[in-house]
Amino acid sequence: MKLFRTLIPLREARSIVLRHARRVGVEEVSFDLAAGRILAEDIVAEMDSPPFNRAAMDGYAVKAEDTLGAAPDKPLVLHRHEPCSGSEPESEPEELPEGEYIPIQTGMPMPRGSNAVLMLEYGKERDSKLEVFKPVTPGKNVAFKGEDVKRGDIVLNDGRLLRAADIGLLASIGRRHVKVRKKGAIGILSTGDELYDPKVDGSSGGAIADVNSYILAALMSTIAKPSRMGIVSDNYDALKAAIVSCIANCDAILVSGGSSVGKRDFIGDVVADLGEMLFHGVAIRPGEPTGFGIIDEKPIFCLPGYPVSMIAAFEMLVRPFLETMHGLKEAMMRQVFAVVAKKMPSAVGRTDFVRVRLDEHDGEYYVEPIRVSGSGILSSVTSSDGFVIIEENIEGIEEGKRIVVNLW
Ligand code: AMP
Ligand code: MG
Repeated sequence: MKLFRTLIPLREARSIVLRHARRVGVEEVSFDLAAGRILAEDIVAEMDSPPFNRAAMDGYAVKAEDTLGAAPDKPLVLHRHEPCSGSEPESEPEELPEGEYIPIQTGMPMPRGSNAVLMLEYGKERDSKLEVFKPVTPGKNVAFKGEDVKRGDIVLNDGRLLRAADIGLLASIGRRHVKVRKKGAIGILSTGDELYDPKVDGSSGGAIADVNSYILAALMSTIAKPSRMGIVSDNYDALKAAIVSCIANCDAILVSGGSSVGKRDFIGDVVADLGEMLFHGVAIRPGEPTGFGIIDEKPIFCLPGYPVSMIAAFEMLVRPFLETMHGLKEAMMRQVFAVVAKKMPSAVGRTDFVRVRLDEHDGEYYVEPIRVSGSGILSSVTSSDGFVIIEENIEGIEEGKRIVVNLW
């Protein structure tokens, strides 16, 4: 492989990429289909949750004051409240009078005039009389109107990746539809004479399975709408034609392979001829032969062919691009702090993407680099728990330091 004449720092590459991440549009979906989508509005509660004071336990609705002084050996007696005959079911419920109780189940509205629930086990009911063995304080075992969510509160923020419990919250405040980001259409092309599609063909002499397009599709599927557009041979005209037809239907394109500066690497030339190449060659390892350009205002990433390098370039450049493009305001990947268990070497002047294993003992996470590290060794990624980014100005990370680990 010939070397790139200039490698730009990751920081610079990222800022160029992010400058070209145009926001996707917004669509409305039913709240129950919004899990995993990115919220495109602040959600303001239009009602309280719970919507009324309700019992938080099975038992007896009482006036707390009526239970004062009750004890197991000195129970107090309350009388069961009987609603006045003839009162309409629709009419305003009557007020619980002093000295009376109403049996109640969890979740039922608290009767007017009651202010606490005596748990079943602290009372004994017989013949419409209740022996109370323990006093309750006002508010005991009551879930108050608005204690979960208050009307007018912002409960979920624009840019949030919606989770399962968020869907429940939307349900509890009566939100039927929410605005979410559309999924950007991202075209994926694989280039290389040696490649075959493992979904269609079997392995045969000398051919290499196109794994990159499947990895990319899987990496993006939560946030975007990836389309695998096939395999293109190492041929300038074929590559040009494939990109022209792909770009018409996509918001951005990811091409893997042929991004280096060898005799059969054409992607750089094609992008430069169709549009503009904004950088080619980034000081990252692995992933150096990564480029980025614009054709018809559409971003195009030229990613390395080696699967591990491609994943590294994706994580360092494409993922931030997709997050910005989709208005995501939180990290998609889970991150933890861990103590370095074994020194991670790195050279100054480039950013390293280190596959790591995470261990937990005595309530602390420990992280160490995995041993196998070739860019063609995909199992070095599958056997890792995540990765660590070592910034370009750092010469390795010493044992004992606490660092951020990104988990798959
Ligand atoms: P290249 O960047 O085209 O020089 O490719 C570097 C290495 O990655 C070569 O060994 C290719 O066979 C391999 N490679 C390129 N594209 C893919 C792909 N889509 N899937 C798996 N391996 C690939
Ligand atoms: Mg190639």
